[in-house]
Amino acid sequence: MTVSKRIVLHFSKRLADRPIIYRLVKDYNLEFNILKASVTPEKEGLLVLELSGKQEEYDKGIRYLTENGVRIQSLSQNVIRNEERCTHCGACITICPADAFELESLTRRVTFYNERCLACGMCIKACPPRAMEVHF
Ligand code: SF4
Ligand code: SF4
Repeated sequence: MTVSKRIVLHFSKRLADRPIIYRLVKDYNLEFNILKASVTPEKEGLLVLELSGKQEEYDKGIRYLTENGVRIQSLSQNVIRNEERCTHCGACITICPADAFELESLTRRVTFYNERCLACGMCIKACPPRAMEVHF
């Protein structure tokens, strides 16, 4: 059976120089499509991938990643903003790798473009009043 999943990989600077994606292709016959790549303010690497392959090899590839210290997050979750809590402080704007937040210059309010969100979860901790919520 073939699977195709969208996942987020979080990895430390130490792993950034290692060919982890190359190994997924070569050793586990997986195909990938990079949807987004960025480095967080804490210098953590973040890669949003669509990863496909045979279920058995996909599972082995995921095990290889976790054994090498890569934190994997599924994108089968939904991040929403609790509008009543948001104070429009703007702390989320630079954190978001998908540019899902924009400051409207006239109103000084922060708009959240849900359709751009990759559900990486970075804004959840960064939001002072905890307005960003993850729903599974
Ligand atoms: S960090 Fe939180 S409170 Fe501040 S603008 Fe973003 S969602 Fe709103
Ligand atoms: S979870 Fe938050 S930081 Fe991550 S892409 Fe969505 S809005 Fe941006």
